[in-house]
Amino acid sequence: MLRVVSLCGALCILASILQGCGDEVPDPACSSYSKGGAGAVTDATTCDTACDKGEGIQTTNYGDHEFYGTSGLDLPAKGFTAAVPVHEQVWRFVLAPVLCDVDVAMEEEELVELLPPEFTRGVVLMDFQCAVVPKALCGELLKLLGPLSEDLKHLKRVRPEGTDLAVLLTETPREDVLQFLQNREITAATVQVPRFCPLTASQMESFSRYWPVKKFVPSFQPLKLTQDLKAHFGHLRRLAEDAGGDAGGCAMADASGRLLVACAASNGVLQHPAMVAIATVAEDARKRYAAQGKRSREEEDYLCQDCDVVLTHEPCIMCAMALIHSRVRRIAFCNENTDFGGFGGRIALEQCPNLNHHPRILRWKITIQ
Ligand SMILES: [Zn+2]
Repeated sequence: MLRVVSLCGALCILASILQGCGDEVPDPACSSYSKGGAGAVTDATTCDTACDKGEGIQTTNYGDHEFYGTSGLDLPAKGFTAAVPVHEQVWRFVLAPVLCDVDVAMEEEELVELLPPEFTRGVVLMDFQCAVVPKALCGELLKLLGPLSEDLKHLKRVRPEGTDLAVLLTETPREDVLQFLQNREITAATVQVPRFCPLTASQMESFSRYWPVKKFVPSFQPLKLTQDLKAHFGHLRRLAEDAGGDAGGCAMADASGRLLVACAASNGVLQHPAMVAIATVAEDARKRYAAQGKRSREEEDYLCQDCDVVLTHEPCIMCAMALIHSRVRRIAFCNENTDFGGFGGRIALEQCPNLNHHPRILRWKITIQ
């Protein structure tokens, strides 16, 4: 999410400019400004905190930001270019351009799907024998060559080369083929071709720069992250954050988008937010069935079938397995857990071929534009 200029902050700056940065505290709407809630801005992190609190960050253009806060005496030593008293206990200072560029103006958070590596890898090239032959000779040569091996079927065998055709021969020189060409005074050369089949449009474009590749539609397609879908997950994220506070939380919605639960961790070693969410859904289902005079799980095969789950932190391996077993459809999280994370941080359970359910995994990632 782009960190934008707060309206409050902008009003502060505008008021100050109009007043020539005079002695009066600006617009009364900027009460937090005059109360000095910004705290000591000593580095990019505290600058961000103040920015998030809407206490007077201004973006004029890249490298030219102004900040109003209550501290700043030692800022010049820490990379800020000025600290000028505007009002009693209120200081005006300008952030160093490098901090502004990276940490304030250009940082964005983007929801992305975590895909298997074959969907995101760059082109890998391999050597292949190739010969340019007249069109009239192509059929006879192809008959001699036979088909490409299964793992190279993504390559087009022939590409135009002026009025002739360039034909892929074999990975390593083959005597009968070389003899065929030699008899017609044609020499083979080595070209580089993509080793793997492209699975996405961007890979298709990238790979085919080296050698033409066939269009291939994999059975697995990346999610289309529409604005509506991003808004849906963003809404659940806010609910998870509100429910979990600093310790982290979880929110779950059913297939229609109806919120089922938003919760934090509970007391107990294993009561992580995801476990609490699943237990809450289970308890609600039990009560619902009891009210209807039915036995549990009489109607549904799985507890969280097709649900969407958002967590502030990547679930641990235990929670990840529980979510998979509950048959959730999509899982999004913010903070990676490199020690115990079950969806890519430590191990990517969603890509485990031995499991019979594979939820789609999404994550908010910081991107520097
Ligand atoms: Zn856990």
